[in-house]
Formats: sequence, structure tokens, C-alpha cells
Amino acid sequence: MPATQRVLVIAATDSSGGAGLTRDLQTLTAWRMEACCAVTAVTAQTDARVQGLWGVPTECLAEQIRTALSDGRVAAIKIGLLATDASVQRVAAELPERSAIPIVLDPVLVASSGGALLEADGLERLRRELLPRVSLLTPNLPEAAALLGAPLAQSEPQMLDQMRALQGMGVAAVLLKGGHEAPAVDGQVTDRLLAPDGELLRLRTARVPGSRRGTGCSLASAIAAQLAVGTPLSCACAGAQAYVAAALAGDPWSATPLWHAVGLQPSVESR
Ligand code: PLP
Repeated sequence: MPATQRVLVIAATDSSGGAGLTRDLQTLTAWRMEACCAVTAVTAQTDARVQGLWGVPTECLAEQIRTALSDGRVAAIKIGLLATDASVQRVAAELPERSAIPIVLDPVLVASSGGALLEADGLERLRRELLPRVSLLTPNLPEAAALLGAPLAQSEPQMLDQMRALQGMGVAAVLLKGGHEAPAVDGQVTDRLLAPDGELLRLRTARVPGSRRGTGCSLASAIAAQLAVGTPLSCACAGAQAYVAAALAGDPWSATPLWHAVGLQPSVESR
């Protein structure tokens, strides 16, 4: 039997199960994708607070990544919580070229319950050393602002400026998640993809009321699952958006290529 492809998840555990590795593995399973992992840190959390965060020794992290990559089956990489400056440095050093394996980075900076999840020095190193290695960066609006040291974007032109600034820092493409945007009158939420060629795509879906932890983890993992099998970037982002919308609506297992099933095409507008 031929060896199956898999996604390498470089992320932390969340003892509450709401986010992090648990959510990543749940998502990859829903997409029928095998996973392997490199644990960056262990957290003790509830949905309401981060009780503790412990980075794993960087040699242990590096060895997990090297070993995972050694059998040649990793077809995409998803990176989540990195916790420390030292782990950002080691991950950047161990990553393959993004031309060989697509690399999706969910920039986990602060828990939705409020606790910091990346050291301040680590943020600077992430900008310098990790962003230039990444195929797709998936910030929400506050994360994009924090990465740039800029105020929160308030309008689409400001969002586009921030996406271009992030691309200027070396990432190939940016998916700016619109969940923190002021609610639109039509009840839609818009995620914006700045493709490697500079084209802007707007991905719209109905806003689901309420919130759920780990949606950023799910979105990035769902994208990685699709990139691993050669799905084009825009379709992978649209499919992941549909998956997260279904999970928010209460069905975390409904994943499998929704974009394919319903013939969803992202609306494309060149700028
Ligand atoms: N804890 C871990 C281990 C995570 O990986 C993440 C997100 O990736 C979070 C917490 C933050 O998730 P949330 O913002 O949903 O609390």
C-alpha cells in the first residue's frame, strides 16, 4: 500500500481541549488527513483562563520536527502556538523550504481568555525569522495589528495595507480573518486573502452568532489538510472557512470538502 501523506502540526497542547493540538487533530481527522506532531509547549487552561504554559526544551522540539520530516510523508505543515523566543528560533531553523512543503502559520499571540501565549522577544523573532519561511499567514485583525505594531485596521483599505505590509515582511500569502470586524448589515463575515501574486480575494460566509475557542487552530489546520493534497490556495481557504462555519454552527465533524460538494467559488476581485 502506498504511504499516505500527512500534515505536521507544530503546536501546543491545551488541557481544556478547546484549542491547540486537540483541535488541530480533530480538524485533520474530519478532513480525513493523517497527522504527526511536534509539541512546542504544554498548557493548563480552562475556557476562562490560562493557568500555566511550559515550553518544551528546544532540542526536544527540533528533534520532533526532524524526525517527523525524515520519512518524507509530510505534505503540509501547520504551525500554531510557539510560546518562547527560543522555540520560534528552532522552528524557523528546522523548517523545510516552503517551495517544497506548504507552511501555514496561525500567529497565536494571546488566548481569547486574555493570557499571553508568546514572549515579547519571540514576537520580534517571529517577524524576522519565521514570516519569511511561511506560505500562508492566518491572522485575525488584532493579530495583524500586533504583528505590525500598528492600530487595528478599521476599513478595507486599511486591512489591505496591513496585508501588503505583512507580505512585505516575507510571507507568500495572507488570509486576514474578519471575525473581529464590526458586524456587516448583510449578516456576512468576510475573510480576505492576499494571494502570492498580490490579488485580493474576498471569502464571505454567514456570520454564526456566538463564539467557540480554537477556531483559528481549526481554520489553519483545515487549510493545511487541503494544501497537502494539492488543493489551490483560494479553494483551500474557502473550504476551511465553510468548515469553521459548520463547526461554529454545532457540527465539528461535517468537514469533508464542502467547497467541492457545493461547488463554492470564492469571489475574486483584482486590485
Ligand atoms: N491554547 C493553545 C494551546 C492554542 O494553540 C491556542 C490557539 O492556537 C490557544 C490556546 C488560543 O485559542 P483561543 O484563542 O481560542 O483561546
